[in-house]
Amino acid sequence: MNHFHRGPDGALWAEDVPLEQVAAEVGTPTYVYSRATIERHYRAFDAAWASVPHLVCFAVKACSNLAVLNLLARLGAGFDIVSLGELERVLRAGGSPDRVVFSGVGKTVPELERALAVGVRCVNVESPAELAMLDEVARRLGVRAPVSLRVNPDVDPKTHPYIATGLKRNKFGIPYDAALPTYEDAMGRAGIEVVGLDFHIGSQLAETGPFVEATERMVSLLDELHARGVPIRHLDVGGGLGITYRAEAPPEPAEYAAAVLERIGDRAVEIVTEPGRVIVGNAGVLLTRCVLTKDNGETRFVVVDAGMNDAIRPALYSAWHDLEPVAPPRAASAVVDVVGPVCESGDFFARDRELPELAAGELVAMRSAGAYGFVMSSNYNSRPRAAEVLVDGDRYHVVRARETVEDLMRGETLPDLDAPPSA
Ligand SMILES: *Cc1c(COP(=O)(O)O)cnc(C)c1O
Repeated sequence: MNHFHRGPDGALWAEDVPLEQVAAEVGTPTYVYSRATIERHYRAFDAAWASVPHLVCFAVKACSNLAVLNLLARLGAGFDIVSLGELERVLRAGGSPDRVVFSGVGKTVPELERALAVGVRCVNVESPAELAMLDEVARRLGVRAPVSLRVNPDVDPKTHPYIATGLKRNKFGIPYDAALPTYEDAMGRAGIEVVGLDFHIGSQLAETGPFVEATERMVSLLDELHARGVPIRHLDVGGGLGITYRAEAPPEPAEYAAAVLERIGDRAVEIVTEPGRVIVGNAGVLLTRCVLTKDNGETRFVVVDAGMNDAIRPALYSAWHDLEPVAPPRAASAVVDVVGPVCESGDFFARDRELPELAAGELVAMRSAGAYGFVMSSNYNSRPRAAEVLVDGDRYHVVRARETVEDLMRGETLPDLDAPPSA
């Protein structure tokens, strides 16, 4: 359920704002998010865990705009971060550091220092080497670092290989069989305070099965740890719940949470979760304008003003996104490739897609673009990144200005190549 719908004029609206108006006033390409949708998704997800002590930590990497983070912080969300930059965003947006969990396979010393200095709730440690590094940083700062070990349960999440993270061959986490000795190592370190156990098996999961399988493995590890006196206070079940892009039918948050909680039973642990996509995925669209159409005799192309630099999911994961003309609906009448202007044949949003006839100047919305959309954008082909807009009822706010050509060259300099060589 989201708040993008056909308005009284038959055109596509975000809440009470016509997308036509946003495009006319802000330009294209533009990411448009719906406040009501984000809030609805967050509340539904949070409510799914209401029967137990829990903390929902939004995975910042899915959509890191300050306004979006601020919305979630106001609702009481915690945050799952994977870099110093994300930590600073959360703090700037009003997020509380004691609700931040820090994930990631390659955290650096400066990142760990900052995390400890601001007092994050937990560092999700992914290797013995990281544990040793963190111990040293913590002792140097005179603190004890709250730690959860990210354990890799070796479960097939049945998703795109690039976003599967809980298989043994993936780079993530500590191998299941190495978890106990690594906890023992952690318990013996003066700079480490063991507080949790965590896992995250992948993204865009459309079934409950892999979550349940991973939870079962983790719960048996949890029992073993408790039996050995390791003080695990929280179990972090990660993120990964999928959304409907096309025909997927992922479980509702309530169904997913119930299945996971059933396996956890009455064990005395707080539950931490790290949802990203399910909160923001269907809460955003990418608004783009048709530049021109062309026909090479074999394929008809609709060239739009957004490219793979703005939205890389189709190119990177062969992802399918619904494309909808913003104008009132009319019958599909053409089979086209919708492509961007970037100089790569991988720069397409749809191939052989049946769509209504699209004319130059028409607006098209790429649906379900709120997660892993803007955050994965780049300046490839020296294209300024898109604007971001947050719709709130009958108002909207530009929450990130469109980049300018000046922004593109910021920090670059022309060296004096004619200067004589230094002696
Ligand atoms: C990406 C990621 C998430 C969020 O995944 P979604 O599929 O967007 O819910 C959660 N935890 C970790 C460690 C991640 O890397």
